[in-house]
Amino acid sequence: MVKPLIALLGATGSIGTSTLSVAKEQHYQIGLASAHQDYPKLLKIAADYNIPCLVFTGISDKSLQQKLRHENQQLRLYFGETELLQALQSEDYSIAINAISGSAGLSSSFAILQRDKKLALANKESLVMAGHLIAKLRSSHPIIPVDSEHSAIFQAIGVHPANEIRKLHITASGGAFRDLPLKDFANITPAQALQHPNWSMGAKVTLDSATMFNKALEVIEAHWLFKLPYQQITAVMHPQSIIHSLVEFIDGSFLAQLSTPDMKLPILYALTYPNRAKSNLVKTDLTQLSELSFKAIDQDRYPLFFIGLKAAQAGGIYPTVMNAAVEAASRLFLSGRIPFTSISSLVQKALDHYPFVEEPDLETIIGMNKEVFLWVSELSL
Ligand code: NDP
Ligand code: MG
Repeated sequence: MVKPLIALLGATGSIGTSTLSVAKEQHYQIGLASAHQDYPKLLKIAADYNIPCLVFTGISDKSLQQKLRHENQQLRLYFGETELLQALQSEDYSIAINAISGSAGLSSSFAILQRDKKLALANKESLVMAGHLIAKLRSSHPIIPVDSEHSAIFQAIGVHPANEIRKLHITASGGAFRDLPLKDFANITPAQALQHPNWSMGAKVTLDSATMFNKALEVIEAHWLFKLPYQQITAVMHPQSIIHSLVEFIDGSFLAQLSTPDMKLPILYALTYPNRAKSNLVKTDLTQLSELSFKAIDQDRYPLFFIGLKAAQAGGIYPTVMNAAVEAASRLFLSGRIPFTSISSLVQKALDHYPFVEEPDLETIIGMNKEVFLWVSELSL
């Protein structure tokens, strides 16, 4: 098997860190790595992993740029989003992992696919905002999902065509507040919302798990990845996070993928697909699993999931409006300006405020993303 040369976007984050562990175990090389602002961490990663090319998308201070160039003359350095896209066009890599958080990851997915490189996608927001445009790009490779649920589905589907699938069942842990009495929701603190019971992840996706918004994003992600209508995609609570998702075939059989919850496994699969590599990073002892249970998602506990499904089915610009509204409302909640229970009401307000656009182009999507973010941010002033 030819070893990949990796472009790792979001190298300083949670998925980035897990990817580095995979690269270390498998002796994979990283040709390019990006961060937003955390230059001490990215420089340390570059030294540890011998990475020749770095991008800092969030460093606009010219004197800091000059200082970093001066102190790191052995490295090729890029600054800002435009230069990130240039690096993705010109630097050498065989597969890119897009693990940038949030809507900021969208343009990179386009740049990677337009260059016809393999894309291992963690940044689900790319498909949420622009799935209809990405689906039209001609690419020699399938997008390889990194998100654990979609990796599970991708593995379970194997070579089966879409017309043999009855339903995709995306599993949901229920996040931090799956057992909290509803009367206590108004007093949830940011620190409580950033504790995930099963997974260790970045702040935004952990909060999105607590509200179950993450599952709405994942339903949209599955719709575009597997080209199935929304009636054939469902989500179900599975508190143990051992079964990462299931495919129900037309004959009534279900196939699932199981393991201890650890993102290193879907990352490894994305990097080795269509093969598998020997690895000792993630171990699962079946005798330690006391039960595997499922239940329906509760509407009162997780209103944002149901708002998200409606926006998904409406399509067009609404997934972008909803996602930008959630990004803004999440920031307001994490900085203590709104209660947890207001996140979903602000998102509903944004969806009611903005008119429908059926087939938005990339420019419209990026423009609306900014506009809605600002609009919602100012609602609490
Ligand atoms: P983190 O918040 O841990 O890391 C985000 C990374 O993106 C960091 O490297 C950060 O750099 C960089 N970044 C932040 N803002 C920007 C920006 N505006 N432009 C460019 N780069 C930026 O996120 P996660 O690793 O948790 O998640 C990354 C993506 O993967 C998300 O889309 C998430 O939904 C998805 N995902 C994550 C899972 C997980 O287990 N963590 C599971 C499934 C999907 P810096 O450090 O400099 O700020
Ligand atoms: Mg997931």
